[in-house]
Amino acid sequence: MVIRVTIAYRTITSEAANVIAGMIPICITLAEDIECYQRRTTRNVRTMVRIDSMAKWQQEWDSTEKCRWTHRPSPWMNRQHGEVNFYLTQFLSGHGCFRKHLHRCGHAASPFCPECEYVEETPEHVIFDCPRKCVVKMARGMQ
Ligand SMILES: [Zn+2]
Repeated sequence: MVIRVTIAYRTITSEAANVIAGMIPICITLAEDIECYQRRTTRNVRTMVRIDSMAKWQQEWDSTEKCRWTHRPSPWMNRQHGEVNFYLTQFLSGHGCFRKHLHRCGHAASPFCPECEYVEETPEHVIFDCPRKCVVKMARGMQ
């Protein structure tokens, strides 16, 4: 479901997809529901249990060795508005039309940017460092 929400490629990890979608993993959600049912006579139990669920999710997210690009400190999770789309998910996950990723999957001969010599084409490089302008047009939905 999170892959549908984020419009991500199937190569994305479930951990990264959940974070980008802002959706608590289903196993934590189910444990939360069980806890709420067992403590159903307590006031505001959902709010209290949700705090524990978020802490558990953060602990799992911090302990995973995967998704280091997505894991970078970001205000993303605390945003109050905005939706993800195909391009934003590629940028946040690193699983997209970036030569470093394509090379890792065997779909590109080299991980390097075609414009910049011996610099890996990563989301960070493309958005912040690369002199190519076509990527900005792509992100804005222009061709
Ligand atoms: Zn470049």
